[in-house]
Amino acid sequence: MSILYRSDAPRAAAWASYFAEHAPDLDFRVWPDAGKLDEVEYLIAWQAPAEFLATLPRLKVLFSSGAGVDHVDFSAVPARIPVVRMVEPGIINGMVEYVSLAVLALHRDFFDYVAAKGARVWNPLEVPPASARSIGVMGMGSLGRAVLERLWTYGFRLRGWNRSLRRMDGVESFAGSDQLQPFLEGCDVLICLLPLTPTTRGILNRKLFAALPAGAALINVGRGPHLVDADLLEALNSGQLSRAILDVTDPEPLPAEHPYWMHPRVLVTPHVASMTQPESAAPILLENLRRHQRGEPLLNVIDRSRGY
Ligand code: NAP
Repeated sequence: MSILYRSDAPRAAAWASYFAEHAPDLDFRVWPDAGKLDEVEYLIAWQAPAEFLATLPRLKVLFSSGAGVDHVDFSAVPARIPVVRMVEPGIINGMVEYVSLAVLALHRDFFDYVAAKGARVWNPLEVPPASARSIGVMGMGSLGRAVLERLWTYGFRLRGWNRSLRRMDGVESFAGSDQLQPFLEGCDVLICLLPLTPTTRGILNRKLFAALPAGAALINVGRGPHLVDADLLEALNSGQLSRAILDVTDPEPLPAEHPYWMHPRVLVTPHVASMTQPESAAPILLENLRRHQRGEPLLNVIDRSRGY
């Protein structure tokens, strides 16, 4: 029984040592030391190009090594092979930390103080209570819900928008395209935690920004192609949006000449909001693999028709 890891090389050793200790019956291989490819039944990968998948005739399950699966070319993955996305506490905790930091930095005007320090200006701004700010999360999935739960502890007013209605204590919930506008109208800070699908591509656009209260801020931790760059720059330059914190861009890495780098009200981070942590992810993946071996349904299988 062989499992092949073809993902983030620096963390391969941690995966291999977990499997060596906890699943000695599995032949855990790390790319490019893959041995005979026709023995591989399970694949852990970030990208799985068609020509590579074609070399794995016995593949039974493709485990994405990250939370999103928008990089997977589903047309290259035979329909009989389930694709499983990564849901694990390490990714969730990282995202909760990043978004909390971003929201609190906006709420407590840290970007203004960074600028004021550069200008040697002592300028205390008002300190409104968290309850005076309304934070909205697009996508109430495993990450969006965890983010909302943590933001609730600070006392922010919270709202969430989702495809299907998801009720959460302390969160005003909205669902579907009909309720997007009323959702947006109450968001001082908008956080995108949607998966990238044909429906959500370009969703952060001029029309959406116009529906936000003037001076709202954007945090995009979904995917770069959710955002229409020209529309964001226009909204920032007109004052409709006050700031943007972008962990994801299109393309990645962001080219050196891109206007975001020099924009005074845009912060770019290099897709680091959260990452799969082998220590917490390996036990969860192994348990899911064991479910498959026992003939039980796999958890967190992608619905190909929805794209997430
Ligand atoms: P998830 O559990 O699959 O949740 C996705 C949520 O989005 C679901 O609640 C879904 O609604 C909702 N949704 C999907 N399409 C929608 C639409 N058209 N309109 C409204 N709501 C829609 O995913 P997750 O684990 O929370 O991850 C979300 C995304 O975060 C990933 O896909 C990835 O792009 C991004 N991410 C970024 C980083 C980073 O470092 N920046 C790290 C990890 C993940 P339903 O409940 O109705 O299905």
